Amino acid sequence: MTTGIVYDPIYLEHRIGTHVESHSRLIAIMDLLNEKKLFENKNFKLIKPRKANLDQIKYVHEESLINEVKEVSKLAEKTGHIQSLDLDTSVSAKTYEASLYSVGGNLQGLDEILKGNIDNCFATVRPPGHHSNSYKCAGFCIFNNIAVAAEYLFREKDIKRVALIDWDCHHGNGTSDIFYNNSKSENSDVVMFNSHQDGRTLYPGSGFIDEIGDGRGKGKMINFPMPPRAADDVISIFFDEIVSPVLNEFKPEFILISAGFDTHWTDHLTGMGWTYQAPANYLKKIKTIAKKYSKNR
Ligand SMILES: [Zn+2]
Repeated sequence: MTTGIVYDPIYLEHRIGTHVESHSRLIAIMDLLNEKKLFENKNFKLIKPRKANLDQIKYVHEESLINEVKEVSKLAEKTGHIQSLDLDTSVSAKTYEASLYSVGGNLQGLDEILKGNIDNCFATVRPPGHHSNSYKCAGFCIFNNIAVAAEYLFREKDIKRVALIDWDCHHGNGTSDIFYNNSKSENSDVVMFNSHQDGRTLYPGSGFIDEIGDGRGKGKMINFPMPPRAADDVISIFFDEIVSPVLNEFKPEFILISAGFDTHWTDHLTGMGWTYQAPANYLKKIKTIAKKYSKNR
């Protein structure tokens, strides 16, 4: 099995000072992968991203949001100062450009999978996206990478059923909002599993069990809020009792994951009790479903 790793130094150019969503996250990841000589191993392949085009960004975002990111990036360039889209979402001169490559990195990864060059893929990209909805960037996020990726599969690749799994410590409220009534593409079906620290104790304060989707999406939005300090075992229970039975019925053709790692017990912004083993165990279980229904994708 070959795993693609999407990366390009353009992702370091979304450079927002001392902000916690720092470019140094990606430097640390790539340094470790290089130290482990990962790219000399034939089971891994470095994937160079491309730029997503504006029609693709518009699959999920309003033009006003796209223009705002573009204009604020220009302002950052002109003034030489970091600008803000909201209290915690910052923009540098290259944010707009990096954001197009962030989405495009996901699309390139999907293409490589569909061409059979790799089996699955990890997108080491930034800026992140899961808090941005159709009309508003929020929570360190610019374009919603995973939402555009799902719509790309529906609109350009004839895929009908995509499962979204968001295991970031914060509720993926932007992605949930975009797919709350399911995909707007005809004959396309999304089921989304959100696991996160209880919204009563953490940003963005949503993702409760009664948020189940609406219209064509009713029952397909699944939220699993976890109490602060919850340990590794909770996610295995969620998979065994909820994710697995639902996916065995849904039979996804593709599984896309928002893989945040801020559930770790040492994270300063959150209050969970996970070790690194929790997402590893969860992924191992998810891969059994991918093997069964979605050609390991
Ligand atoms: Zn997070």
